[in-house]
Amino acid sequence: MEYDVMIVGGGMAGLTAGAFAADAGYSVLICEKENQLGGLINSFDKNGFTFDSGIRAIEDSGIVFPMLSSLGIEIEFVKSQVSVGIEDRIIGITSEENLKDYFELLASFYPESSEDIKRITDNIKTVMKYMKVLYGIENPIFKDLKHDRNYLFKVLLPWLGKFFFAIDKINRMNAPVEKHLKMFTGNQSLIDIISQHFFKETPAFFALSYFSLYLDYSYPLGGTGMIPRKMEEFCANRKVEIAKNTKIAALDPDHHSVTDEQGKVYFYKKLIWAADQKTMYQCIDTDKILDQKIKQKTIARKNEIKEKIGGDSVFTLYLSVDLAPSYFSEISHGHFFYTPLRIGLGEKIYSDLNQLLSVQSKTPTKKSQEQIKIWISKYINYTTFEISIPVLKDKNLAPAGKTGLIVSVLFDYSLIKILDEQGLYNEIKIHIEDCLIDALSKSVYPGIRSAIMDRFSYSPLSIAKKTGNSEGAITGWAFTNKGMPAVNKMQNISKSVLTPLSNIFQAGQWTYSPSGLPIAILTGKLAANKVISQLKKRK
Ligand SMILES: Cc1cc2nc3c(=O)[nH]c(=O)nc-3n(C[C@H](O)[C@H](O)[C@H](O)COP(=O)(O)OP(=O)(O)OC[C@H]3O[C@@H](n4cnc5c(N)ncnc54)[C@H](O)[C@@H]3O)c2cc1C
Repeated sequence: MEYDVMIVGGGMAGLTAGAFAADAGYSVLICEKENQLGGLINSFDKNGFTFDSGIRAIEDSGIVFPMLSSLGIEIEFVKSQVSVGIEDRIIGITSEENLKDYFELLASFYPESSEDIKRITDNIKTVMKYMKVLYGIENPIFKDLKHDRNYLFKVLLPWLGKFFFAIDKINRMNAPVEKHLKMFTGNQSLIDIISQHFFKETPAFFALSYFSLYLDYSYPLGGTGMIPRKMEEFCANRKVEIAKNTKIAALDPDHHSVTDEQGKVYFYKKLIWAADQKTMYQCIDTDKILDQKIKQKTIARKNEIKEKIGGDSVFTLYLSVDLAPSYFSEISHGHFFYTPLRIGLGEKIYSDLNQLLSVQSKTPTKKSQEQIKIWISKYINYTTFEISIPVLKDKNLAPAGKTGLIVSVLFDYSLIKILDEQGLYNEIKIHIEDCLIDALSKSVYPGIRSAIMDRFSYSPLSIAKKTGNSEGAITGWAFTNKGMPAVNKMQNISKSVLTPLSNIFQAGQWTYSPSGLPIAILTGKLAANKVISQLKKRK
């Protein structure tokens, strides 16, 4: 059978593309290599605790809710309130007014830099103003502009002028946040504390916009996995065929076919690749492309991305603890960004790691291994944690009187990869878990160690294996790449879904930078729109 639309990857980009293509009446097949849809958005249950394995909460960004509502999918969301803390001071971020508290928090730790902090928080305020414009309305792509005249004339048209003004300003704030902050202060610890929970070299506008995004976080009752689950239900109702445990291993553009690992061949009119992009180009045997121009363009793209690396990944520790939710709610909200020490990671932390890894990969010894362990414990003590406590958002997500915690830190993929190749994976995973528990016990949760009933973790390598994403990247390409291999200007986003192959489109976190859930959804919809419009023309 030939499907009108075939989708590789059942994460949120693939699900969005599939849902809209099916809603428009086309036959759709989604191939997903795992036995579950959702990719980097999922939840799982263990001994009565519900944990999120991917994203911890949802930023609507004018995209997620309009997408769900345009498909008629109903999910109950609650606010995922955020707290930010350093050492023993913790503040709640529930309104723009809290920016003042953030200023005071930073000034209490770095009083000598209070003038700099004032200028930085003023800069954050400006970015918040632009972000309010950028994400301030329901994204027009999910609206019926022909029939919803009220939205068109009263919302969209008045917004457009402000949008282009904001975009122009945002495009000028593209420098890495670490460098941008140096314009305001020479205090490295202060720079670290503000920037270290973002990916390396995150564009300044994106990093500094987080203060507004904190206010935008919501949580679906039942866990983040409710979103892909409901999308899957929608797709099934629209007769989308969903092939789980189906990993696509080869792609033949001239014959409009893909082949899975078992050798089964599927035919399509249009293909949307909503998974890792390097994998897509590896799957194409370019020798089989007859049109020389297309062949050259495909080879050029394949070569362009071959050397580029995926963005930061995370190490996540899951804890089931015999402490009541009230123990934690007295400390913070259920979504908590916490830094145990004010010192910050410092500028040399990654060059130190690279040196250690270079030794470890060439001439590993007991001593080099010990030095890496020391580096890890220093990193964990000085970095910033993202702590999510599902039961504080939905009381049904843990057994009565107990609490599940999801504690994560950004973590270097190559470190885990090298040690895994040397047979040290489990040892290092336990070491990282111990360091995290130590840091928490010595700071924000004294005594938590003795209350732990169960613990396990999920490393960058687990993410890479489970989702197929290069380097375990959780939001697409690294900002450190020289030359971003994806569209990175909002006004050009519609081009992000194009490939050199006219019947193949791409969607998801690798297509546009900076990325994340809203971009995965937006590009899924953009790809569906392109496909639908081409299929309509064929009729
Ligand atoms: C801990 C964490 C925190 C995050 N926090 C945020 C946040 O605060 N804000 C935000 O916006 N984003 C956040 N994200 C990122 C966001 O979740 C992802 O960017 C987004 O979900 C990516 O969706 P996707 O569909 O593009 O890709 P994925 O979710 O990676 O989906 C790709 C799918 O393709 C499948 N696949 C891969 N290869 C093949 C193949 N060969 N054949 C068949 N199937 C294949 C995979 O199994 C996977 O299911 C976070 C992610 C994590 C993990």
